[in-house]
Amino acid sequence: MIFQEPMSALDPVFTIGHQIGQAYRSHFAVSRAEARERAVQALAQVGIALPSRRHDDYPHQLSGGMRQRVMIAMALICEPKLLIADEPTTALDVTVQAQITDLLRELSERSGTALLFITHDLGVVAETCTRMVTMYAGEVVEDAPVDAVLDRPRHPYTSGLLRSLPQLTPRRAPLGFIPGRVPGAAEMPPGCRFLPRCGHGMAGCDQPQALRVLARTPSDEPAGERRVRCWRADALQLPGSVNP
Ligand code: SF4
Repeated sequence: MIFQEPMSALDPVFTIGHQIGQAYRSHFAVSRAEARERAVQALAQVGIALPSRRHDDYPHQLSGGMRQRVMIAMALICEPKLLIADEPTTALDVTVQAQITDLLRELSERSGTALLFITHDLGVVAETCTRMVTMYAGEVVEDAPVDAVLDRPRHPYTSGLLRSLPQLTPRRAPLGFIPGRVPGAAEMPPGCRFLPRCGHGMAGCDQPQALRVLARTPSDEPAGERRVRCWRADALQLPGSVNP
């Protein structure tokens, strides 16, 4: 797993090489020298220049982007089948953010590691992911291929998120927003948890509903690929970011 904010996730009193090597040694019975060699390789793999020298640096001696690369090296050193990246680019500026997402995508393609990205940044989702799973109040409300969701979201919450993104055109158009607040854990509505904030609610939406495969999908969308938790998903025509 790659945690958010590498300055907090890395231990400030150990060198980065020691921490990467420790991750490796806790999964493989290797000597310290072998772990060091593997840690240097991992640093090189994530694009850190002079990896054998950087191996002995402490976290505070690195930039934010380099620390995030160290976190990625530590996560990848054991060659996982699945890598969970929790807001891995939140603390970074836009340029470094693009470098890190490119690196993650490239490493995942090269090593065959599946990548699960947890993020609020829909731009990162659009660039990096193949499927998008939208969650609201602790529940999955939509699960579909990214292009299909950006084109035509089928849950009102996903559509609300996409409409809240600033657009370059038309100028001076008001920014979309979702009214209300996320309910507290002790006051969840019994049926659809989005009902108090949804502009499409109707009688029956207060009944519990499961995540279900949509019966009706556009002809260019593979059948059975989209699951939605909304009573009205088959009937609603909702705006997305591609089709406002
Ligand atoms: S079930 Fe009803 S209230 Fe909930 S998202 Fe769908 S339309 Fe809105």
